[in-house]
Amino acid sequence: MQYRRLGKSGLQVSALSFGAWLTFAKQIDNGVAEKLMHTAYDAGVNFFDNAEIYSKGEAELVMGKILKNSKWERSSFLVSSKVFWGGDKPNQKGLSRKHVVEGCHAALKRLQVDYLDLFFCHRPDANTPMEETVAAMTDLIRQGKVLYWGTSEWSAQEIMEAYSVARQYNLTPPTMEQPQYNMFHRDKVELEFEKLYEEIGLGTTTWSPLASGFLTGKYNDQKTGKGTRADIEGLEWLKEKLVGEEAIEKVKKVEKLMGLAKEIGVSMPRLALAWCLKNKHVSTVILGASKVSQLEENLKAIDDISKITEEVNEKIENILHNKPQKVVWA
Ligand code: NDP
Repeated sequence: MQYRRLGKSGLQVSALSFGAWLTFAKQIDNGVAEKLMHTAYDAGVNFFDNAEIYSKGEAELVMGKILKNSKWERSSFLVSSKVFWGGDKPNQKGLSRKHVVEGCHAALKRLQVDYLDLFFCHRPDANTPMEETVAAMTDLIRQGKVLYWGTSEWSAQEIMEAYSVARQYNLTPPTMEQPQYNMFHRDKVELEFEKLYEEIGLGTTTWSPLASGFLTGKYNDQKTGKGTRADIEGLEWLKEKLVGEEAIEKVKKVEKLMGLAKEIGVSMPRLALAWCLKNKHVSTVILGASKVSQLEENLKAIDDISKITEEVNEKIENILHNKPQKVVWA
């Protein structure tokens, strides 16, 4: 395993980490969840990602039990939660001081830990003043309940506002952002956040590196395979992504990428993951898996980073045709 600093912080996070979305307490049983976490930990993964919304808190309960039973030293792993969608009632969602604090307390209980290593604002909240959220996060940090706080799917402007408010009122600024990042979804990480890496030392814990499985080639027939994520009841948005012109374009790209993967001697998922890892602004790539065999395969991507040479990268760019472009004003 390779370890990277989480932005400018002193925290070392494994370049590959592991998350619970849609799998824990939903698609897989708890025994498989346990095997997956142990497979990850044994390979050097030190960060496990979770959120209050994942299976409505159940995913954190499952992860909490596994962590407790594992007897791993608390100092040897990082665990996160995310606050935003805690429930349906007015103060059970958003980023008010009330929900941030209550969301943290509830996550600590479910995960059976004394502190969260990372605590994310899962989305921006236009209905709460920025200083209220930043002050609440700062208080949790000062109380020792959270070590680092960050954001997820915030714009560069929102992150900058949080940073400025923190500096203005002597509060703690965000350390990391959790954006989607994969071969099909690049703009935020490669362009929008460009200045933030240097100016505020932003770290990134990136999600859906395989675009929910699309970048494995498993949906090239544009069908919902039995037992796959796209087969989960209620995930209409994912099923919809398998059809239409955009999907056809993506399939064509994946087919070409699969040819390239073969050429350099890796599997398609490993190529897609190694490509994410190659970006030095990515602190950690959060993996998802519903089977131990998938995770074992994906963990090998750490050894494939060096295979993404300049020449290979050029071939990838020629297939993807989606490199984020800066607007240059005349
Ligand atoms: P991916 O895009 O990597 O998708 C993972 C899924 O792809 C697996 O569950 C599995 O689905 C399939 N898969 C994985 N490896 C293979 C393989 N080798 N061969 C074939 N299929 C494979 O990541 P996720 O979307 O799961 O995101 C990872 C984590 O990121 C989440 O668990 C969560 O912690 C975080 N996240 C954060 C979000 C945020 O808003 N902050 C949003 C989404 C995720 P299948 O069962 O179909 O085989």
